[in-house]
Amino acid sequence: MAPVDELLQAQLQLARWTVAARRLVIFTGAGISTESGIPDFRGPQGVWTQLDPRQFDFQAYLADPELRRQRWQVYRDGGLGANAQPNAAHFAVAELVQLGLVDCVITQNVDGLHARAGVPEDRLLEIHGSNRFAKCLSCWKRYPREETLRWESDPAAGVPLCPACGGLMKSGGVSFGEPMPPDETREAIRRARAADLFLVIGSSLVVYPAAALPGYAVERGARLVIVNLSPTPLDHLAALVVRAKAGEFLPGVVAAVKQLRGAA
Ligand code: NAD
Repeated sequence: MAPVDELLQAQLQLARWTVAARRLVIFTGAGISTESGIPDFRGPQGVWTQLDPRQFDFQAYLADPELRRQRWQVYRDGGLGANAQPNAAHFAVAELVQLGLVDCVITQNVDGLHARAGVPEDRLLEIHGSNRFAKCLSCWKRYPREETLRWESDPAAGVPLCPACGGLMKSGGVSFGEPMPPDETREAIRRARAADLFLVIGSSLVVYPAAALPGYAVERGARLVIVNLSPTPLDHLAALVVRAKAGEFLPGVVAAVKQLRGAA
């Protein structure tokens, strides 16, 4: 972790760049939600240290009713996020959006915590889907999570069937080997390319294609800032790398932004 005065300098620097930016895009990963008690995948307490990756495999979900039954139960019990609360980092991001300083928030997270912290839908791109809803794997209709919890599971399928078409239901988060939502993905690439400041928060930047987004931004001349506890493969491209907990670092950035704007 960086010494305190280094962090203060970094907060001020990022605040200056934020105020000056024409298009700030914020890109978040599992690390922004660890302070809400949701484990990331690759940190020391990460999910991979405890769970079999097959649990998150899309082909296995399609093939195996027992796995579907288990995954639906996890979803019913809260899965990633439904029982968690946004933390100081989510609220700081939401405040920057509310101050009119953010073009959009692109998240790899499926926990829905950005929306719950107050980032409006039209500023949020959940490129790995979201557990805020469940989806039909045949007609792709989405249903709010609360609604699907009232549904009975089909005994043979292990999960409820879509009321519109009878297809298999699945939580809205994208599994391994499952296609990413095409509209959100296309829009995320467009926004990344148009950014002049691209802020990464809590991502190991090893999960592709999402991890390509900072590179698209830098290629078009954006300044890259990375706030992450551990090194990433793109640190060498960044104008600023901050090794701090997002929930401890970002509120100071918001405070500095407000001071700068007040002084202007
Ligand atoms: P990752 O697990 O690969 O990396 C998380 C990174 O965040 C790590 O490098 C870690 O050092 C850092 N980190 C952890 N806590 C932090 C904190 N408090 N402040 C700053 N940095 C912190 O996560 P990823 O890059 O998002 O890729 C994982 C994939 O798994 C994504 O596709 C994501 O959708 C999914 N996932 C989502 C959730 C969620 O929705 N909350 C949780 C686990 C995994």
